[in-house]
Amino acid sequence: MATRMLPVFDARPATIAARPQVSDELAEFTTDEVALPSFHVWTLGCQMNHSDSEEMAGALLAAGCAQTPSLESAELIVINSCAIREAAEQKVIGRMGHLARLRAANPALRVVLTGCSVRSDNTHVLHKRYPQVDLFLRPDEEPELTARLGLAGATSVGRMAAPAAQRNSAISAWLPIIYGCDKTCTYCIVPFSRGPERSRPFDEVINEARSLAAAGYREVTLLGQNVNSYGHDLPVEDRFGHIRRARDMGRNIDLDGRPDIAELLGAIDSLRTADVAPAISRVRFVTSHPWDLSDRLIGAMAESSSVCEHLHLPVQSGNDAVLRRMGRQYTIDAYLGLVEKLRAAVPGISLTTDVIVGFCGETDSQFENTLALLREVRFETVFAAAFSVRPGTPAARLDDDVPRAEKKRRLQALLGIQEGIGREINDAWVGRTTEVLVDQVRPPSSHDGGGPRVAGRNRNNKLVHFDGSPELLGRLVDVRIERAGPYALVGSVAR
Ligand code: SAM
Ligand code: SF4
Repeated sequence: MATRMLPVFDARPATIAARPQVSDELAEFTTDEVALPSFHVWTLGCQMNHSDSEEMAGALLAAGCAQTPSLESAELIVINSCAIREAAEQKVIGRMGHLARLRAANPALRVVLTGCSVRSDNTHVLHKRYPQVDLFLRPDEEPELTARLGLAGATSVGRMAAPAAQRNSAISAWLPIIYGCDKTCTYCIVPFSRGPERSRPFDEVINEARSLAAAGYREVTLLGQNVNSYGHDLPVEDRFGHIRRARDMGRNIDLDGRPDIAELLGAIDSLRTADVAPAISRVRFVTSHPWDLSDRLIGAMAESSSVCEHLHLPVQSGNDAVLRRMGRQYTIDAYLGLVEKLRAAVPGISLTTDVIVGFCGETDSQFENTLALLREVRFETVFAAAFSVRPGTPAARLDDDVPRAEKKRRLQALLGIQEGIGREINDAWVGRTTEVLVDQVRPPSSHDGGGPRVAGRNRNNKLVHFDGSPELLGRLVDVRIERAGPYALVGSVAR
């Protein structure tokens, strides 16, 4: 087979439906004449991106390409970008010089940019912003990657038909259940980059969960920008006739008779081993917008023994006027009502959240409301960020009037308060025994005697370090907690 460079494609993303045709002048480069490049996928951003990257790596491996551990050793670089804040986009823009040097050293190098930085509304700026990129793919076009590159073995276009994902862990797996976002958050780029919500068919998700169990996965995380909204776009079916629910936040839509995430959790929990233990020991789901956190879902969390006692429930602000400007469509009272229901139904549940500080028009006292909320709810962890204007979003038309230095001050103040809360919550673990799913081998630390160390998370999603050998990887181990810091616990195997 002749060795050829991969074709350089036009940068304009194609429409979703049309499978791109390779033009006449590129025809000689197609399929079997293209040398299979070694590839590296560089992933930024959220779990959804990491899961998408596993699918793209799976497709490239199925096409016969080899994976390399670094950008520098690859002939094909796939960058899966994040656009949630300006800083995330700058990380990739800042690498253009390095990519230019790699290309000078290897003219056959090809670079693909995908993820949330590629949208249909910004195609005109992509070439200028990312001069070293040959091919731009929107997130919904990622299943076309191998076909667009003209690689042999490329499978049919369409996410559902994609080859098996190349999962990075043999212990915990992402399981995407819904793509896109229909919500109305005025600050957020995601609905523009990922399009409307599309749920995967119920049986397809359950079959994949069954395969993951058979492959020995101990933990599965159902994934989507809004997993709680799963199923609203799927057809009504008799077998889901018992599902009756109404939304009391956000847009009112007909949900009766369609599958929902509660039904999915129940069905995954009912996959059992011969000795009737859950076939997947731990089930998680992320992320949950408060809109569709229904009583059915809270009930499923309480009743399904495999569903972990943790929920990430982004609140974004502690002030109703700010929430209204953010388009979140709930009040703090409604949010606190959900927290109360969750704590009553799932004793010991840990709650984590996202907060944006310095959103347009946020006053000092509105920010203080957010601090008061953190003190009241006592989240285990808060992922906080300063508001970053995203061009094209509704909030880009508001006045970004909180100065950068003030945003920074608010962020530091919030993190300081949260660190104290996190430490107090973690201190309460000392002396208790907790079940840890070991998924990391840590470098020995002289501070802890220099022996082999491992780490993993308990069901509440707390990171726990303890002395143990690498054979414990993938095992559920009872650990007695001896020390606590603001972000992690340290213990030893319980005897
Ligand atoms: N779907 C989830 C939800 O309901 O909130 C969140 C997903 S979003 C990818 C992750 C987080 O990024 C958000 O919860 C928000 O706190 C943060 N975020 C989104 N847009 C932002 C912006 N323009 N500036 C700062 N943070 C932002
Ligand atoms: Fe962004 Fe809001 Fe959708 Fe979350 S729910 S992805 S914050 S628009």
